[in-house]
Amino acid sequence: MVKIKSLSFGELEEFVLSLGEKKFRAAQIFEWMHKGVRSFDEMKNLPKGLKEKLKEQADPEILETEAVQVSAKDGTRKYLFRLPDGEYVESVLMKYSYGNTVCISTQAGCRMGCAFCASCEGGLKRNLTSGEILDQVLAVSRDIGEKVGNVVVMGVGEPFDNYDRLSGFLNNINDKRGFNLGMRNITVSTCGIVPGIIRFAEEYPQVTLAVSLHAPNDSLRNSLMPVNRKYSLTALMDACRKYARITNKRITFEYILIEGINDSHRHAEELSVLLKDVNCHINLIPFNGVIGKNFSAVKRAEAEKFRDELRKRGIETTIRRELGSDIDGACGQLRSKKR
Ligand code: SAH
Repeated sequence: MVKIKSLSFGELEEFVLSLGEKKFRAAQIFEWMHKGVRSFDEMKNLPKGLKEKLKEQADPEILETEAVQVSAKDGTRKYLFRLPDGEYVESVLMKYSYGNTVCISTQAGCRMGCAFCASCEGGLKRNLTSGEILDQVLAVSRDIGEKVGNVVVMGVGEPFDNYDRLSGFLNNINDKRGFNLGMRNITVSTCGIVPGIIRFAEEYPQVTLAVSLHAPNDSLRNSLMPVNRKYSLTALMDACRKYARITNKRITFEYILIEGINDSHRHAEELSVLLKDVNCHINLIPFNGVIGKNFSAVKRAEAEKFRDELRKRGIETTIRRELGSDIDGACGQLRSKKR
């Protein structure tokens, strides 16, 4: 079976030709898929014969919705999707004043092993295909019956550990003949895979990059994020400066505030020194409790103190607004319950 939603537009044309059909059918199929239809039968303007061939030879890469949690507070919707092989991934719809944002996953599980994160329990099961990454956006958009204006790649998995599939997804969702989402409306978050950052700067300079930092020195970062043992803070900061030079864009650093671990006055000071010549913005993230992990969130007043300390030192800093705090907010939570 050809995984049809993972094909680029050009590959889809080749596939359609290989079925003995006219090339223009590719544009019709591409458009239908990006409208979120869930079967070849719904592709109204295709001849019956072609639909039959597609059913025999193509996998439409449709995710099944296993569960949806809806926040009574702010309408955030959290989806647990089941993949054809029984793996699960999560996506989240967030309603902002500027429109609908969908947070999507790139892997079933994760092998980065961050100490505070629920996604890596059980390790990496497998990479998602480009079509499975895309179908999360399509499924959510179809469910709510509204347009999705922004996509953040901050769900389960490390996007740069699945770079090629991420890349196929970005090209397809951006394609004018399909979903037509602007690269500027997409954010990708990485735990700090240095070669991925450089490649991304060259290939996707318009996409916003977020880097999960979470610690201002190597010894603390080594203990929280094993990836730091491979790409130290010196290497990471060099890559971030290079990224900013190539793209002319500011990087967002994510920093989860964890009580008694990375939240002291000294940490704020160290962080401001580390970032003093990097074109960036810090987003402080309130820690989301994870079952079985011995970490707690800092109080709001403490987070504000940390923010003000950074601002005083000239680093632009905000505290992430918490959405869906009454549902399983942190990534990987629904999936790990299921497992
Ligand atoms: N692997 C990528 C993207 C997925 S995680 C990355 O590391 O950036 C998205 C963000 O959620 C990261 O900043 C991650 O560190 C953060 N995160 C993970 N567990 C969390 C938790 N329990 N509470 C709050 N944020 C968490």
